Amino acid sequence: MDADGEAKLFDDGDSFDSSWSLIARNKMINAQLRKRGIHDRRVLEALANVPRELFIPADLAGRAYEDCPLPIGYGQTISQPYVVALMLQLLESGPEDRVLDVGSGSGYQSALLGRMVKSVYGIERIIALAASAREALAKLRIENVTIRTGDGSLGWPAEAPFDYIICGAGAPEVPQSWIDQLIDGGRIVMPVGQAASQVLIVAEKHGSEMVRHEICAVRFVKLLGEQGWAT
Ligand code: SAH
Repeated sequence: MDADGEAKLFDDGDSFDSSWSLIARNKMINAQLRKRGIHDRRVLEALANVPRELFIPADLAGRAYEDCPLPIGYGQTISQPYVVALMLQLLESGPEDRVLDVGSGSGYQSALLGRMVKSVYGIERIIALAASAREALAKLRIENVTIRTGDGSLGWPAEAPFDYIICGAGAPEVPQSWIDQLIDGGRIVMPVGQAASQVLIVAEKHGSEMVRHEICAVRFVKLLGEQGWAT
């Protein structure tokens, strides 16, 4: 890192990157992330190098780096960049880890994780969102992220155990299947609470116990499914 701490966050050239996007991302990283306490270099690098506009509807591309969630269709949203960065920072994942991303939606968070860990398993219940997520990931040549459709409240038993589980949808409680599919010492970052408002939690598995930390109040869409909210 050089004196201003900003150099070399960005990779060299990517055919899908345009200069407006690079400039907007750089601004987002400084104004929305660093200033609010996102300091994990791997998280900042991931956000610096994944073009968010590829994961939102084309007519919203110009708003890709605004400090807010955006609609991605089907009543779902892509989270505010700061919230995504905060969740990734709380995960504390490493380059050799396998991560389950439940409610992969647009695929943006999965793409960021793809740049940070060994392999990412994304589950999305809406078929069309899973398809467009795969398309965006292919454009970016991110090959260590697998997206499948299904009820992610039940986890992904065939690929378990996971080092980390992250979820961008709120549930009444941490699904038991996720606890069962997590390694000892692994952690889950997710919103838990009521349908209209939740608390972002970090839950760490220690043998048969889950040690839970509450981070902040948040508002996410519902995790719908067998171990989430009723459909
Ligand atoms: N991290 C995502 C956020 C998407 S919003 C992104 O970067 O775009 C949360 C997503 O969870 C929605 O797409 C919704 O369809 C999905 N979802 C809700 N319940 C689910 C379930 N039981 N299994 C899988 N996906 C679910």
